[in-house]
Amino acid sequence: MSPRVAVIGGGLAGITAAIALAEAGAAVTLLEARPRLGGATCSFARDGLVVDTGQHVYLGCCTAYRGLLGQLGMTAHAPLQDRFDVTVLAPGPRRGRLRRTALPGPLHMLPALGRYPFLSLAERASVARPALAMRRVDPGDPRVDEQRFGDWLAAHGQSDRARRALWDLFTVSALNIAGDDASLSLAATVVKTGLLGRSNAADIGVPALPLGELHGDAGAAAAAKLGAQVLLGAKVTAIEVDDTVPPGASVPSDASVPSDASVPSDASVPSDASVPSDAPGASRSRSRSRFCLRLARPADPAGTAGAAGAVILADAVVLAVPHEAAARLVPPGALPAATVAGWAGLGASPIVNVHVIYDRPVMDLPFAAAVDSPVQWVFDRTRISGLAPRGPASSRAQYLAISLSAADEYVDVPAATLREQFVPALAELFPAAREAQVTEFFVTRERRATFRQAPGTARLRPRSGTQLPGLVLAGAWTDTGWPDTMESAVRSGLAAAIELRHTVLSRLGLPRAGYSDSVVSGSVVSGSEGNASTSTIGVRQ
Ligand SMILES: Cc1cc2nc3c(=O)[nH]c(=O)nc-3n(C[C@H](O)[C@H](O)[C@H](O)COP(=O)(O)OP(=O)(O)OC[C@H]3O[C@@H](n4cnc5c(N)ncnc54)[C@H](O)[C@@H]3O)c2cc1C
Repeated sequence: MSPRVAVIGGGLAGITAAIALAEAGAAVTLLEARPRLGGATCSFARDGLVVDTGQHVYLGCCTAYRGLLGQLGMTAHAPLQDRFDVTVLAPGPRRGRLRRTALPGPLHMLPALGRYPFLSLAERASVARPALAMRRVDPGDPRVDEQRFGDWLAAHGQSDRARRALWDLFTVSALNIAGDDASLSLAATVVKTGLLGRSNAADIGVPALPLGELHGDAGAAAAAKLGAQVLLGAKVTAIEVDDTVPPGASVPSDASVPSDASVPSDASVPSDASVPSDAPGASRSRSRSRFCLRLARPADPAGTAGAAGAVILADAVVLAVPHEAAARLVPPGALPAATVAGWAGLGASPIVNVHVIYDRPVMDLPFAAAVDSPVQWVFDRTRISGLAPRGPASSRAQYLAISLSAADEYVDVPAATLREQFVPALAELFPAAREAQVTEFFVTRERRATFRQAPGTARLRPRSGTQLPGLVLAGAWTDTGWPDTMESAVRSGLAAAIELRHTVLSRLGLPRAGYSDSVVSGSVVSGSEGNASTSTIGVRQ
């Protein structure tokens, strides 16, 4: 009989864990509180347009995330640049272009840096010093995580101008915190792996489909194809543990076990209440299980008729929710109270997206970065949103989305005020915007987009394993060594699956199908080496 694993949280971490565990032979139930999968990567419809709440990109070094894309059959729908190539705009006529050469990293960026127009010659030359020094920075060293990236850059000869006009371009968006305030450890992971690593490590991948399709719909389809059950609108309110049931095994309800241990905490719940008759593991429903998940309300299995119960029984649990929710759900005894309380210290940092639709094209690039402007990065979303084919051929409207990371100063500002600031800012960057009419303007705000990636956060991020055999954590905020990104989420999902497999599930002799040795051994999820890795999830696409 396959062990039943409940995965709580249908973001990228939960989707990854669900797929990896279903591939390994577990009977997986994926529970998501919202009516869709995808978590922080989501889309919504607005007046016939498909809008992503936040523009997402990834880098070539994001091997685990690329593996997930492959597993979902979505690689072609989130294409990578053939070469790192970023146009940098500023008010006025000057444009910079940071395009890598074919030279091996870290030499690949040198020619573009040498021509970068927004720094003086001396400032450009000064970049070599931190680039060389960064090679000696160990992101895993706790002392490194106690330092601010800005202090470290300043100590290595980087002027305020160099920090704002060059380093911020990459670290603010990657770490979602003002560049100077970032943890040196996390910044070093980004810089060493992306910018100074293999020559193709920083090539940028941009979704060509709305995130809801790219991850949510595709994740649900892939999980279902592997036999996993997806329950949407399934908010878990409590995880109860029956310690008398050994990890990884259910106990028949008529087995000779103490009667007071038969059902977790609430004896009124029938032991088979959790599992719809067509669910994986339903034939085992008369057995008692180690974990009992309480739902806020009965959940509908996605794509099937009928409702599941308000209780889910499982032999093992992956808790793949944001850190605040995990602190509320993690059962007593799973981790020291101080560890769970410490997660509050991870905090939150907002991302705001400003969406502007013009009556004509104003930007001639797929995306661009900006300096000396409140605009940080701006993306052409005309095609992806469905705007392009919607109007008549003569209507050549263009939809731009400005992505504002570390957006504390914008997150509470009314849309009308943001319009007064950002429409002129775009006009400064794009001369064609001065003549164009803005036909729509709206704002999306993600107040808790990522945790606040400041110094001192590494020690607050838990590993996937807990002291409660059978319960593991996942989520981009857990201790992956990576910033709170899609890559971190996928790595955490893989780490959780590996942890369960190595501890509880291996005792049950799950088949290895779908797991390559590299993933089982952890080579993909340990370290940040880049592009040669063979994330398994993805090998079989
Ligand atoms: C606006 C924005 C822009 C971003 N840009 C980028 C980018 O360009 N590149 C990049 O790599 N990363 C980016 N990120 C970060 C990236 O989206 C996240 O790191 C990643 O998606 C987190 O995935 P996760 O699975 O760990 O968590 P989440 O996506 O938060 O998923 C957790 C899920 O758990 C569910 N849940 C919570 N409580 C319960 C419960 N009690 N019961 C059941 N389900 C529950 C939630 O509904 C959610 O779906 C961005 C994030 C935002 C918000």
